[in-house]
Amino acid sequence: MIVLENVVKEYPNGVKALDGIDISIDKGEFVFIVGNSGSGKSTLVKLLLREIKQTSGKIVVKSTNLDKIRRSKIPKLRREIGVVFQDFRLLKTLNVYENIAFALRVTETPMRKIRRQVPVVLSLVGLSDKYKALPKELSGGEQQRVAIARALVNNPPLLIADEPTGNLDPQNSWEIMKLLEDINKRGTTVVVVTHNREIVNKMQKRVITLKKGKVVCDIERGGYSDES
Ligand code: ADP
Repeated sequence: MIVLENVVKEYPNGVKALDGIDISIDKGEFVFIVGNSGSGKSTLVKLLLREIKQTSGKIVVKSTNLDKIRRSKIPKLRREIGVVFQDFRLLKTLNVYENIAFALRVTETPMRKIRRQVPVVLSLVGLSDKYKALPKELSGGEQQRVAIARALVNNPPLLIADEPTGNLDPQNSWEIMKLLEDINKRGTTVVVVTHNREIVNKMQKRVITLKKGKVVCDIERGGYSDES
């Protein structure tokens, strides 16, 4: 699903945010990417979404070599990757249903399909009865569920969650993680970037640790690495 070979990202100011990393993530995996602030996590996410380009090395996402991808094909690639952020990024003036439908409308999905798909993902995240609520009427955990539903509505094979529990209390954080685990069990590859030591320790999944732009630890199953 994701292959990075000797990837280097040097910003124009000379900072090497990623310094030769090798990562391979198979279809169906659940992977945590951890590391202190400044270790290169956000840079990695931006590279996977092709928001920025690597300085050198190879990146393949879903069998597409990002170095060779045509500009016109980037929107299609992004539709195949669901993304969830720490700050939810919901549209304030739209209700839950409309926020999710919006993600389909921009990809010119027929109305009939929107009406069918939105209730499916709302039910998946356990928010069927809140479809008319505005984001401000929801708790942080509920808002993150809406964001997850929106990320999944195009049925992407890959979901990337960038600090999804950063704004949530421990109970809601745990519930969001269980939801991501369920989604993974249904076949979606899930990559979670996080600082949340407690959750990583509890989940016992694959953990890739970045430090100063390098992979310093990559364990099959375990907790937060002390090397970060
Ligand atoms: P993390 O997400 O783990 O906090 P980042 O990928 O944001 O790490 O940052 C890695 C390094 O790259 C840091 O030293 C940061 O200051 C630097 N960096 C990030 N973005 C930029 C940018 N646009 N221009 C220059 N340096 C950057």
